[in-house]
Amino acid sequence: MHLDIDNLNSRETPFYYYDLDFLETTLSDLSIASMRPNFNVHYAVKANANRPILELIANHGFGADCVSGNEIKIALESGFANESIVFAGVGKTDDEITYALNQEILCFNCESIQEIEIINELAYNLNKTARIAIRINPNINAETHEKITTGLIENKFGISMNRLGEVLEIIKNSPNIELSGVHFHIGSQITKMYVFRELCARINGINRWFNELGIQLEHINVGGGLGIDYDAPRINPVPNFQSYFALFDKFLQLFPGQQVYFELGRSVVGQSGMLVTKVLYVKEGETQNFLVCDAGMTELLRPALYQAKHHIENISSIFSKVENYTVVGPICETSDCFGKNIALPLTRRGDLLIMYSAGAYGEVMSSNYNLRNKVDALYRSTRWKEMANEYNRVEAEAS
Ligand SMILES: *Cc1c(COP(=O)(O)O)cnc(C)c1O
Repeated sequence: MHLDIDNLNSRETPFYYYDLDFLETTLSDLSIASMRPNFNVHYAVKANANRPILELIANHGFGADCVSGNEIKIALESGFANESIVFAGVGKTDDEITYALNQEILCFNCESIQEIEIINELAYNLNKTARIAIRINPNINAETHEKITTGLIENKFGISMNRLGEVLEIIKNSPNIELSGVHFHIGSQITKMYVFRELCARINGINRWFNELGIQLEHINVGGGLGIDYDAPRINPVPNFQSYFALFDKFLQLFPGQQVYFELGRSVVGQSGMLVTKVLYVKEGETQNFLVCDAGMTELLRPALYQAKHHIENISSIFSKVENYTVVGPICETSDCFGKNIALPLTRRGDLLIMYSAGAYGEVMSSNYNLRNKVDALYRSTRWKEMANEYNRVEAEAS
């Protein structure tokens, strides 16, 4: 991950900065680690939906996991094949379902009985058959932040295991629905690997249950959730894809011919992006010293939303003396804080700070709260120099 741009100090801040070379390194690792004949990786577009990033990921032959009609549209425009797109989400609208049916996507991951009935109806109107997977809520604790936990029985996601009989009855009476698989996604930023092992055990039981009923599932979708190292992004930039895929290879018990789908988002793009911000003011408080930056929760919401920590560096300071600072943004919210007691070299007004690991759930969650301007995204690539320059030029013209 290199910050390497011309006229860094005269750039308008804040901006997102993406290292496409590093993304390529990550994608190569991912390709190699997931290389098994029945493994299929679908990139979770919601983590970062910027065109150059989607194009590179599509270029590596991965599929796309989408959670809205617009995500399906941009995935198709960026080069993902329609038959490699899966569509999840608890609240798919009729328009989105119709659009996805017309694009003949690979699979709908269905989150409720009513949704299955509506997809059947809309597919009937179009004289099509919808391939679906039942998203099952496996009631497994992902051991991550509660706001990114999705596989517990109290969460809004998925259908509880108790209702599977009812679901199968509905599917049997839905001529325009074809049951292709089951889907699980228990949460995000999962760092404890035993969680995935528990998920495998739960899936194995469910897979056997279907088999005993005489239902051959074509695929098992294990979702995403592999975490990244926010504490030490420079030491540990690429997630341990090798052990992640090896784990599923070892612990999932499949029937002959069954495919496995993975939906990784954060682990694919998280470390490829950073947020660059300028210190507007160094403010001496009563109990702590604040660095007031020109980026805030409008550009990087994760700290405010999930108490997330992003590694912060000062790239301008020439001092060796280190001080503790509370790093905040300009937004009128107390939660607009990137961290307390952050040790940084003595910092002055005008210094540039880098917030690492902002490639996933950074720019996509940005807002114009406080009527803030949308900020630029800049790309670095030696391998795809022309593409990077092209996008950097377009961004500059638009702003
Ligand atoms: C968000 C999401 C993902 C991706 O999660 P990551 O933690 O970014 O890997 C995968 N599947 C579904 C259904 C999601 O909602």
